[in-house]
Amino acid sequence: MKSGRQRRDEIRARRRVRSAIEQRTSYDPWEPQGIPRGALRADPAKLVHDGTYGPRPRFYVDTRFTCMDCGRHEVWTAFQQKWWYEEAKGKIDSRANRCRECRRKRRMRRSQDRRVHMEGLMTKYGVEETARRSGQSIDVLMRLREQWEKS
Ligand SMILES: [Zn+2]
Repeated sequence: MKSGRQRRDEIRARRRVRSAIEQRTSYDPWEPQGIPRGALRADPAKLVHDGTYGPRPRFYVDTRFTCMDCGRHEVWTAFQQKWWYEEAKGKIDSRANRCRECRRKRRMRRSQDRRVHMEGLMTKYGVEETARRSGQSIDVLMRLREQWEKS
């Protein structure tokens, strides 16, 4: 027959084990507690570019996401996240939402659209007026036009 004291000690010991396991396995990057092993530490000084009052990441871990265009699963690595928020100064509440391939296609589509747009302006108004309207320098526009004429 166990005494009350023995039983209390056993309960306490079990609680200690459980909380040790929880500390090791449960974490939330947006919670101000603990950095899991293998995570990439955030540099708070590099995360002040965004005026958000919300929490900022304290560390980065590889995260799976589904591409919003093609549905493919891809991993947004801890290193990519650190680069995105701290070096590229991405918005704090932004997340990866397109896979590498869809991002590439989108970039190409957009530069194509832009090119067609600028070409149209230059045909209609000439280089100088296009520069004035678009805020682009005449040098840049002349270079663009040379490239199009060659291609
Ligand atoms: Zn995709």
